[in-house]
Amino acid sequence: MEKRIKGSTKLLALFGSPVGHSGSPAMYNFSFRYHGLDYAYLAFDITKEQFPAAVDAVRLFQMRGFNVTMPDKNIAAELVDTLSPAARIIGAVNTVVNDDGHLTGYMTDGSGFVQNLKEHGVSVAGKKLVILGAGGAATAIQVECALQKAAAISIFNAPDPFLDRAKETAQKLKKEVPDCEVKVICLDEQDRLKEEIMTADILVNATRVGMKPDDQISPITDVSVFRPELVVADTVYEPLETKMMKDAKAAGCKKIIDGEGMLLWQGAVAYKLYTGLDMPVDAYQKYKNGQEA
Ligand code: NAD
Repeated sequence: MEKRIKGSTKLLALFGSPVGHSGSPAMYNFSFRYHGLDYAYLAFDITKEQFPAAVDAVRLFQMRGFNVTMPDKNIAAELVDTLSPAARIIGAVNTVVNDDGHLTGYMTDGSGFVQNLKEHGVSVAGKKLVILGAGGAATAIQVECALQKAAAISIFNAPDPFLDRAKETAQKLKKEVPDCEVKVICLDEQDRLKEEIMTADILVNATRVGMKPDDQISPITDVSVFRPELVVADTVYEPLETKMMKDAKAAGCKKIIDGEGMLLWQGAVAYKLYTGLDMPVDAYQKYKNGQEA
């Protein structure tokens, strides 16, 4: 470490609260070392109130950029100079790049999801998706899939405050990406859910349902919707194989994609924005698995 950190080393950071559990410092620092880049990455516990001062510090310290985690993603979008198309539609950013004092905000959760699908040989272009959920992850996925030319997206959400957010997203997409047909339906309408999944190419769970400790629950209770050609993707990564994925596997679905890849690829997309290089994903995975063994 003391050999790598020099007077010229540029800093990158994760801002948010809490950040102590984050895997980002390990992932980015491994990749900087791998590519011989003169960068270092640290995590800072920053509250919403402290966020403007943190962004001032980014400019003052001429940091290369920063990632943003909850609860600061919306406030960060208000403090940067330019927003990517996805970040502008969503109104939130998780990655900010500093080019000589000009800050550009991006949302890489959705592009990480789409990239992970690509790594599994699945393109969203021209496809119909059913996406469960309308929170942070779901909205990022819905917007990115529409921007990546999905033909149709049916959003299902429980009758909670996120249902209104789904309606707002649908309104924005209608205006920004009119070629993508977006519907919003309450998750209570189980017959509509079945109908929509039956004509969909890709089913995505972007709700909290199925996460530990409630990992015995699936957002899909009628398993007759699973057919071999339906791609089933979960954003939940704890557990890695959710009940929904197990049910899909038992029903013969050929392509089932877990949430860990989205997590990894959203970081890889950010790494490319910071450095212009492809993150050494395989090398990092091997390193991480070796560490964990
Ligand atoms: P959020 O709080 O912003 O949204 C929560 C969503 O879950 C809402 O749509 C809400 O309606 C739904 N929900 C909660 N309880 C429900 C229930 N009992 N029944 C039906 N719906 C319910 O959360 P978020 O940050 O968007 O996270 C959502 C999921 O995405 C989580 O499982 C999280 O682990 C996952 N996630 C994954 C990644 C990744 O990189 N793989 C990144 C971010 C989030």
